[in-house]
Amino acid sequence: MSETKTELGVGCCVFCGASNPTVHVRFKDTFTAYQYVQAGDWACSRCAVMLEDAKFRRNCWVMFGNEEGWSKWVKIEDVLSFLQNMPNPTFVLYLTLQKRKHGWILAVQNPVLNRNRFILVVDEEKIFFERHRFMRLKMFSENLLAREVPKAVLLGGYPSASSIRRFKLSFDECSRLRSLKRDRLWYLVVKFGKRIEQPKKTL
Ligand SMILES: [Zn+2]
Repeated sequence: MSETKTELGVGCCVFCGASNPTVHVRFKDTFTAYQYVQAGDWACSRCAVMLEDAKFRRNCWVMFGNEEGWSKWVKIEDVLSFLQNMPNPTFVLYLTLQKRKHGWILAVQNPVLNRNRFILVVDEEKIFFERHRFMRLKMFSENLLAREVPKAVLLGGYPSASSIRRFKLSFDECSRLRSLKRDRLWYLVVKFGKRIEQPKKTL
């Protein structure tokens, strides 16, 4: 039994849209991200590998090259440092907090072309990334985390009176937290933010 690429609908990779896909994909029962897939069941060799290998779901990563010659896959350990000092595009970038979704499909559909403004894919969400804004949010977050303000307070909108007293939050800081309550870039900056470990005080 041979499968040829002359069947109707075989024109581009169902994941990234690259032309002349070479691999016939079979979706497992556990695959649920059909809403991101184009019609058909052929994929380029890169995307076929990504569908099978869980490392593309379980890690934050960057991948250089394109669907014909993707060369380098690098796991990202410190997401905010990576975003701050990004290499020159073009590359595919995928971030995950949940580590189980098929958001990599959205990532290959939205390669990074411009360091300063691009679509950042986090799990199955697309967030508009603007460098200036990111840097301001990162500084704000680091300042608060260094004062041991919990992440839940950073993401909770206008802080409670007890939090304001305890962490000596200014009115400007509180107003800013309120305005950032549903901001997705802020959410990302806080979630991936690292708390600087303070040396334990000995009693
Ligand atoms: Zn592809």
